Amino acid sequence: FESTPPVTMKTTCPYCGVGCGVKAELTGGRRMSVKGDETHPANQGRLCSKGTALGNTFGLEGRLLEPKMRTANGFEPTSWDEALDAVAHKFNAIISEHGPDAVAFYVSGQLLTEDYYAVNKLAKGYIGTANVDTNSRLCMSSAVAAHKQAFGADLVPGTYEDLELADLLVFSGHNAAWTHPVLYRRIEAREGQMRVCIDPKRTDTAKAADLHLMIRPQTDVRLWNGLCAHLIARNAVDHDFIDQHTEGYSRLMAALCEDDQSLDAIAHDCGISPADLKAFYDAFLHTEKTVSLFSMGSNQSSQGVHKGLALINAHLLSGKVGKPGAAPFSITGQPNAMGGREVGGLANMLAAHMDFDDASKAIVQRYWQSPTIAPKPGLKAVDMFEAVRTGKVKAIWIMATNPMVSMPDGNRIHEALSNCELVVVSDVIARTDTMDMAHIQLPAAAWGEKDGTVTNSERVISRQRRMTTLPGQVRPDWAIIAEVARRMNSAWDKAFSWKGPHEVFAEHAGLTAFENTGQRFLNLGGLTGLNRDAYDTLTPTRWPVTAAGSTHRLFADGRFATPNGRARLIAPKPTGPANKPTPEFPFSLNSARVRDHWHTMTRTALAPELNRHINEPLLDIHPTDAKRLGIRDSRLSIVTTAFGEAILKARVTDDVREGNLSVPMHWTRQFAPFGRANQMVNPAVDPMSGQPEFKHTPARVSAY
Ligand code: SF4
Repeated sequence: FESTPPVTMKTTCPYCGVGCGVKAELTGGRRMSVKGDETHPANQGRLCSKGTALGNTFGLEGRLLEPKMRTANGFEPTSWDEALDAVAHKFNAIISEHGPDAVAFYVSGQLLTEDYYAVNKLAKGYIGTANVDTNSRLCMSSAVAAHKQAFGADLVPGTYEDLELADLLVFSGHNAAWTHPVLYRRIEAREGQMRVCIDPKRTDTAKAADLHLMIRPQTDVRLWNGLCAHLIARNAVDHDFIDQHTEGYSRLMAALCEDDQSLDAIAHDCGISPADLKAFYDAFLHTEKTVSLFSMGSNQSSQGVHKGLALINAHLLSGKVGKPGAAPFSITGQPNAMGGREVGGLANMLAAHMDFDDASKAIVQRYWQSPTIAPKPGLKAVDMFEAVRTGKVKAIWIMATNPMVSMPDGNRIHEALSNCELVVVSDVIARTDTMDMAHIQLPAAAWGEKDGTVTNSERVISRQRRMTTLPGQVRPDWAIIAEVARRMNSAWDKAFSWKGPHEVFAEHAGLTAFENTGQRFLNLGGLTGLNRDAYDTLTPTRWPVTAAGSTHRLFADGRFATPNGRARLIAPKPTGPANKPTPEFPFSLNSARVRDHWHTMTRTALAPELNRHINEPLLDIHPTDAKRLGIRDSRLSIVTTAFGEAILKARVTDDVREGNLSVPMHWTRQFAPFGRANQMVNPAVDPMSGQPEFKHTPARVSAY
């Protein structure tokens, strides 16, 4: 590999949605030292263990460096021309025989916004299918749906600064200490702030909180609805705000009255003490500056949208939104879940936060000058793989993600990909559980090898920067997609003729501003026409950003993105999990995450220091359950659900409730052949968002 002169770059960490700025220095070849960027607004110089270890994951170990095709003798190297022609030819053949919806793209919050934009344009504007979905579906699509219903668009009102300004912080299904460590570090130093953690597990965030509500799984809606009822009953609502800026108050009030909203009844249903419940409600009632964070523990549920709505309702009723230190705040898992949402990376969104209504379709098609436009939303992740399994979708292109490990009901994903006519996988790693299923493997550029942008949880767009020459034959994802588009139809050449990611970004920014007279909040009009130099020197920028500048906090003027400008109070119903425990499967299994690994460990497993914290998947089980079942600490146990089973070492701990089990999701066939969590997870989804219920699957457990 050619040596590279020492070079220092400001770039962005590729892991979680905090989006920390990184100063990386190449010190020869691929040796890299990494520091936090003090000038980045997200982290102000801090990095967590994963970000700090980036240099140790930058080697070429395990990389896919050339295109390969599956043959009778295994995977054989091939040329880019042959691989790209094969993808284009087969996609065309399937589309011409079965129509555009017979192909699908399953992409990733690891992709950069430019990659996402390219695949979305190809599918929705040129092929004519909206079958583009992303692993962000598994992460925060319930929050997206809740934002759209309550605010009129997928908008995150707050900023990280609000977490420091708040006098009360509520972590709802959010173990920030492990999953968003730098965000957590930011507030640790803040004195006099009360912290409440709502979580069925005693996480590190819960242990450090002033109050931990260790609720029964999937009772969050009941808890937040109860808070709304108490705000109303104790006349602690903001009547002016409700009158001027919301609608649906009477309907919400009537719906809340259908349930017994006494403290005793709510506490009983949630499995916590009435005194703790009252302490939380009192704190929320009396603290103007309150931020409620919600993340995977809230979203990964068949009631994920309702959980988000119930939490947002409490903020709307008390006017705790759009003000310093006051916001409901969805925190994304992926580094670019937000950027993906912005360009239409979800199957139910068109582009630039637009839906599939006729007016939006016409705007996007006019901007793209495209031959077609997808007429309706496409298949969401679980439905997409089910359509692959049943043969409705005959070709799938998977980019930068490992659904064999990360999707629920992993055995069914295996069946789907085994039966699919064409599986294309573009990724950086040569051997993953998903890459092994490919017919065509395309080597993609990794972090540090490509240029692009990401958007973090507080709407800040940051640059990821290329620091080195491309190893082997790897290419950036947007360029691979553009090549396939041009080979599919030469008439599409002009639409996919970008000379660099700056041109893709400028086009995306232009679309957000195109025919946007202020009714669409996602507006990057101030960044349209960005040339290469301006793109290269782009500093972190929060959207909306128009010629007048950037908007710091959304809804400060009480105007929301609904047609009448009012936020909607929508009454969520507490229904509990989709699949309730049964005598055969009496436990509730939670698919969890650990502090130092990221997703399916393809990168983090490369850094020795990241394998030290927790080096194998452990089953967390309560001491009472363990004793009753003869399961001993550090001994093997077998967990079974209706979908799969795993053999795991037990960790007997009261960090989980009696009747609950918890297993981390990161380990793959390569690292723990019998310890994969998500192959046991039920594929039940939230009916509105399509987000799977990773946090609850009926299960049984016994000593092995
Ligand atoms: Fe990277 Fe997230 Fe850690 Fe920041 S908090 S360094 S973005 S993993």
